[in-house]
Amino acid sequence: MSIKKNLDTIKQNIVAACSECGRNPDDVLVLAVTKTRTAEEINEAIRCGITDIGENRVQELLSKYDDVDKNVRWHIIGHLQTNKVKYIADKVSMIHSVDSLKLAEEINRRCASIGKVMDILIEINSGEENKDGIDPAKAYELIETVSGFSNVRIRGLMTMAPIFADQETLKKVFSGLYQLSVDISAKKYDNVSMECLSMGMSGDYVEAVRSGATIIRPGRALFN
Ligand SMILES: *Cc1c(COP(=O)(O)O)cnc(C)c1O
Repeated sequence: MSIKKNLDTIKQNIVAACSECGRNPDDVLVLAVTKTRTAEEINEAIRCGITDIGENRVQELLSKYDDVDKNVRWHIIGHLQTNKVKYIADKVSMIHSVDSLKLAEEINRRCASIGKVMDILIEINSGEENKDGIDPAKAYELIETVSGFSNVRIRGLMTMAPIFADQETLKKVFSGLYQLSVDISAKKYDNVSMECLSMGMSGDYVEAVRSGATIIRPGRALFN
C-alpha cells in the first residue's frame, strides 16, 4: 500500500523535474534499492510496477534471489569484490560499480564462460569521503581498455554524491557526471555507449534528474 503511494510520489517528482528541464520522464528508470528489504517487500514493489531492483551486497542478493519474482532485473550497485563475481554473473542484468580494470577483467572472464555479455557502468568517484569509484581523469583509460572486451558492454556512468552535500555540491556532482559522459561519448570508443547515467538516491534524485540522470536509485523513499 505505502510502496504504491511512495512510488507514485517519486514518479510525480520525476515528471515535475523533467518538465522543468524539457526531458521525457519515460527516460528515467526507477531502480528500487532493496538492501535490507525482505523478499515480500520486494515482490510488493514489483506488483506496484518496479521492473529493476538494486542490491549492494552479493551475499544479500543471493539470500533473497530464489524468493523474489523472476519477472525483474537485478542490478549490483555497491562495491563488488572480484572473487564474488562468479556468484552473480548469471543473475544480474547490470553492474553499476565497475571501478577497476581487475574487476572488469573478471566480469568479462566469467561472462565469457557462460556465454553472456554483461552491461556495466563505470563508477566515478565524486568526493573524498567516498572511497569507491575511479577518478574522472582515469576513467578514459579504463574505458578505452574495457571497450575491447567481448563479454562486457559499457553502457554509461554511475556515481554517489557525498552524503551531506548541499544543493550546490549536488548540482556540481551530477552535472559533472553528465558532462563527463558527454566528453567520453565524444571519444567514440568502440562498443561503448553513454546512454545510462545512474545517479540520485532518496534524498537527491530530483536534482539528479534535473542534471540528466536516466537511472535513479531510491531505497528509503520507496520502502519507508
Ligand atoms: C543504499 C543505496 C542507495 C539508496 O539509498 P537511499 O538513501 O535509501 O535511497 C542508492 N545507491 C546505492 C549505491 C546505495 O548503496
